[in-house]
Amino acid sequence: MWKSNSLIQASKLPASGTTIFTVMSKMARDHGAINLSQGYPDFDGPDALIEAVGWHMNHGHNQYAPLAGVPELLELIATKILDLYGCSVEPTSEIVVTPGATEAIFCAVTACVHPGDEVIVFDPAYDTYEPCVTLNGGITHHIPLSYPDFRIDWTRVQDTVNPRTRMIMLNTPHNPTGSIWREEDITALSSVVEGTDIILVSDEVYEHITFDGSEHLSLLRYPNLANRAYCISSFGKTYHVTGWRIGYCIAPPKLMTEFLRIHQFINFATNGPLQYAIADFLRDHPRYHLGLNEFYEQKRNLFCDLLEPSSLRLSPSAGTFFQLADYSLISDEPDTEFTSRLTREHGVAAIPVSVFYQDPPDQRVIRFCFAKQDDTLREAAGRLLKL
Ligand code: GLN
Repeated sequence: MWKSNSLIQASKLPASGTTIFTVMSKMARDHGAINLSQGYPDFDGPDALIEAVGWHMNHGHNQYAPLAGVPELLELIATKILDLYGCSVEPTSEIVVTPGATEAIFCAVTACVHPGDEVIVFDPAYDTYEPCVTLNGGITHHIPLSYPDFRIDWTRVQDTVNPRTRMIMLNTPHNPTGSIWREEDITALSSVVEGTDIILVSDEVYEHITFDGSEHLSLLRYPNLANRAYCISSFGKTYHVTGWRIGYCIAPPKLMTEFLRIHQFINFATNGPLQYAIADFLRDHPRYHLGLNEFYEQKRNLFCDLLEPSSLRLSPSAGTFFQLADYSLISDEPDTEFTSRLTREHGVAAIPVSVFYQDPPDQRVIRFCFAKQDDTLREAAGRLLKL
């Protein structure tokens, strides 16, 4: 073998290791632990949806889909957005179907962020955001959410914004904390961006998972925000098929033109048969996503109730399929060590939350995914009660 050390001179992402989701899922597999770490269901999506993929593969839908997406699906997404958020979206110029929300986030950032541009993110921030900015030569400003309710300090946002601020990355319902936006956040955001050229990237992949009667406040409801936003969602979360890697982005034409310039050279077009299948399902079951709130609220309640007698402290999530837990009554260990020990010795994998911070606060908090069969949650809770 020849020496290859000098082939890569310098990493473009020197601060990034393997993502925590991959690390913890591997650890769960290696130790035979119940995997409540990486966010995915341990049950399948609807039969009709899965059968539709096979049908389309058997009926000739196996070649490239159009660049932005299969027209039937784009039309159905536009109808859904109008019904849900009262927002009229032009299917041929304002929607792109992407291989997961992750590619959409990358394209949105790459479309708009130039070297030296500043981007605001809120910590704990999903681990995709900063690398997208860094790869484009941008500078990320991290603003911590308040603790323990994980709200945005809008005064701090206003103080951080300056003429170099190009973008604010938003996420509601919020991963990993499970907090959701209120109307006052929308009002504050509107006043921060008014009169500026700031572009918004709104990660709304958990849009259909909000609890206790709360409405999801999509930016698409607010024309003054939607006209400067990339709003990104995920079929994987909505239809329990995260492995399909399929989502979509909605943005005004002027933003979408730049987005497509990037998307065409990364992915060209998104998986065809999946798009046809999702279009069939969306047409035949247009209310399916409306049942997710109740479906996951039952799981959140079950998980929190089961852990009520434990030494973990839980404040029920307002949205997403994640639940934070404070373990400070159990241990002083840093969360990375605690989650590793929890996986190895107690057979339950979780995600340490400190990895989503630039400056981790002095907290003992971990994240569980409750997108699991009730029996899985019962078994996991039984193990956690022994802590
Ligand atoms: N969004 C998922 C989570 O938060 C992980 C997706 C991934 O592993 N890239 O757990």
